[in-house]
Amino acid sequence: MLDDVKKVLIDEGALQKRVKELAIQITEDYRDKDLLMICILKGGVVFTSDLMKLINLPLAIDFMAVSSYGSSTKSSGVVRIQKDLDQEIEGKDVLIVEDIVDTGLTLHYLIENLLSRKPASLKVCCCLDKPERRVADIHVDYVGFNIPDEFVIGYGLDFAEKYRNLPYIGVLSENVYSK
Ligand code: 5GP
Repeated sequence: MLDDVKKVLIDEGALQKRVKELAIQITEDYRDKDLLMICILKGGVVFTSDLMKLINLPLAIDFMAVSSYGSSTKSSGVVRIQKDLDQEIEGKDVLIVEDIVDTGLTLHYLIENLLSRKPASLKVCCCLDKPERRVADIHVDYVGFNIPDEFVIGYGLDFAEKYRNLPYIGVLSENVYSK
């Protein structure tokens, strides 16, 4: 599998260290709140599970799955909900947990959609951010790492549904695209 990775961008140790820092910050910020973490499937699942274990609060968790219409390389901003939440979020302190913000169009849709359900508060936590690619004007409250405009895999992120299980963030080798 290592042959499919051109380079390791963020190794396992750096990821775990940063996740711990984020968890400490979130624990502090949500101490007297009713925290509901919303994991965005599937990419957010590894980050969310590491993060939630380190947050020292009685939090709740729910899941949403969304997909963008359009080609895989060009985000259209039109988002379809494939799996909605199991619960109402009115009055809750909601934290969206995402794998990566790229154009920001997916998150823009999600934020508008969840705000209409009247949570007490709504914030966003992303493992990775590619600020160069931003199109939508969104605010991300907690960012793990800013990364350059490269297609990354691992730690929840896939290429054709594979590589989500890599314990680090890597850049995909060109020869995988031509396989
Ligand atoms: P946005 O709407 O911000 O353009 O797209 C966000 C979604 O695109 C992410 O949740 C992720 O599924 C996908 N995405 C964006 N950049 C990458 C990347 O470098 N690697 C992978 N595997 N997915 C990405």
